[in-house]
Amino acid sequence: MLKNFSQDLSRWYIKNRRDLPWRHTKDPYKIWVSEIMLQQTSVSTVIAYYERWIKVFPTIHDLVQAPLQTVLKQWQGLGYYNRVKNMYKASDILIREHKGVLPKDPLIIRSLPGFGPYTTGSVLSIAYDMPLTIIDANVRRVVMRLMALDGIADTKQDPEINKFLLKVLPKKNVGDFNQALMELGALVCRSKEPICNSCPVNKYCLAYKMNKQELIPKVKKKVIKNIHAVIAIIKKDDRYFIQKRASKGLLADLWEFPGGKIEAGELKVQSLSRELLEELEVDLKSSKYLFDVNHFYTQFKVNLSVYECQLFSEPKIDATHKWVSFKDFSKYPMPSGSAKIIHKLKKIA
Ligand code: SF4
Repeated sequence: MLKNFSQDLSRWYIKNRRDLPWRHTKDPYKIWVSEIMLQQTSVSTVIAYYERWIKVFPTIHDLVQAPLQTVLKQWQGLGYYNRVKNMYKASDILIREHKGVLPKDPLIIRSLPGFGPYTTGSVLSIAYDMPLTIIDANVRRVVMRLMALDGIADTKQDPEINKFLLKVLPKKNVGDFNQALMELGALVCRSKEPICNSCPVNKYCLAYKMNKQELIPKVKKKVIKNIHAVIAIIKKDDRYFIQKRASKGLLADLWEFPGGKIEAGELKVQSLSRELLEELEVDLKSSKYLFDVNHFYTQFKVNLSVYECQLFSEPKIDATHKWVSFKDFSKYPMPSGSAKIIHKLKKIA
C-alpha cells in the first residue's frame, strides 16, 4: 500500500522545494550549521544568519580558530545559545580527533556535544546519503496524520512514527526524502489548514480519509508565564555599564545591563535598588524611568522596565564588568532584550 509513497513525495519535492542556501551544498559542516540554526528558528530568519555565518566561518577550521565571544556575537538574535556553544565544542573535538571531518559513523557523531538523534540523522542523511530516519516537529505532525495517530505531538509518538518511516525510507537519496517530508509539513501539511487536496501523498493518508486532518495531532494549550524585571542604565560620559552573565544557565556568557526580576510585593524602584546592591554592591541615589521593552521566549514573556540610574559610588570594573560606548556594543554578544534596549537608547541619546 505504501509502495510508491517515497517516489510520489520525492517527485513533488523536486518541483516544489524552496530554494534555500544550504540546499546548494553537500558540505557536512555547512549542512550541520544550517540544521543547528533551524532548530527553534524559522527558515526566513535563518537565511540571513546562515549566509553571514558561512562568510565569517567558511570552514570548521575558521570556526574553531575564532574566540567564543566572536562566535556568540555572530549568533546574537538566534537565541538558545547552547546550540552554538555545543557546535563550537564539537568542532574543536572534530579538529583534534577527526582532522576536521564529520565521520560517517552515527555512534561517533552522537557522542559529540549537541548531536541528538535528529541532528545526527539530518546531517548524515543529507551530507552522506546515509539511510537514517529523522523526526522533527513537521515530520511528527505529517506522519501522525498519515497514520491517524491519537494524542498530542510529543516524543512518545516517535517509536510508532519511526516504524512508519523505516517502511517508506528509499534506498537512495535519503537526504532528499527526509527534507521532502519536512518540506511537506512546512508548505502543505501545515499545523493549521493543511492543503490536503493538493497533497502529493493524500492517497496514503488515513486522517484525510477520515476527514480528521484538522484534529490530529491534538493541541496542548501553552501556558505563557509573564516575567517583570527592572533594568538599570548607568552612564558615564558616553559609555554605559554592562556585565557578563554567568557561564552556566539561561543566556550564559552573554552581556547585559544590570537589573533583575521584580519580587512579589516590591515596587519597581525598590527592586532596582535591591538588584544594584546585590549585583554590584552600590547604592541607588535616584532613578528616572525611560521606557519599557517586551521580549517573547518560547515559554515566557519578559517585560523590562528600563531606568536611568544615578549611584552614590561607581561600580567596580573587571573582566566581567565594563563601560561600553554605542560604537563598541557590537563587540559584546547580548540577549535580544538587551539589544532592543540599546536600539531604544540610541533614539533618545
Ligand atoms: Fe497532511 Fe492532508 Fe497530506 Fe494528510 S492529506 S499528509 S493531512 S496534507
